Amino acid sequence: MSLTAPYDQNNIFAKIIRGETPAIKIFEDDVAIAFMDIFPQSDGHCLVIPKKTGATNFLAADPADLGPLVARVQRVANGVVKGLSPDGVRIMQFNGAPAGQTVFHLHFHIIPIFEGAPLKQHAGKKADIAQLENLAARIRAALAVN
Ligand code: AMP
Repeated sequence: MSLTAPYDQNNIFAKIIRGETPAIKIFEDDVAIAFMDIFPQSDGHCLVIPKKTGATNFLAADPADLGPLVARVQRVANGVVKGLSPDGVRIMQFNGAPAGQTVFHLHFHIIPIFEGAPLKQHAGKKADIAQLENLAARIRAALAVN
């Protein structure tokens, strides 16, 4: 999909926002939802998305929405670090299919990095759901005291 393609209200993240598709949520407020990536590149890989629909990517977003959204990304990333104690954390964001974007609703990846554990393929293999639930519980607990 091109950088300027129209927003599809039936993309998978819009369905998660509407509650039509399940997600293992770790954070939600009026601005954003964060949930576990079901095809994770590392343990604890999660996504932060704006609740507001309409922006396919970062470039298409209303600039006024970005500050509050990025504040949520930082908050969730701090929860991931506190809950999972990775050695590093990558915060990534893709724009357009040629850049690696596969879901066309603006989102940020939070990818914990553990030394010696190579990253898995982007949007690759589906995770074990019980393991995702366990990681999510640790992140939620960390966020609750942040
Ligand atoms: P991107 O490729 O940057 O657009 O990222 C989309 C991400 O969404 C990928 O990392 C996918 O693994 C992830 N993903 C796709 N469908 C779902 C889903 N139903 N629940 C959670 N994560 C998903």
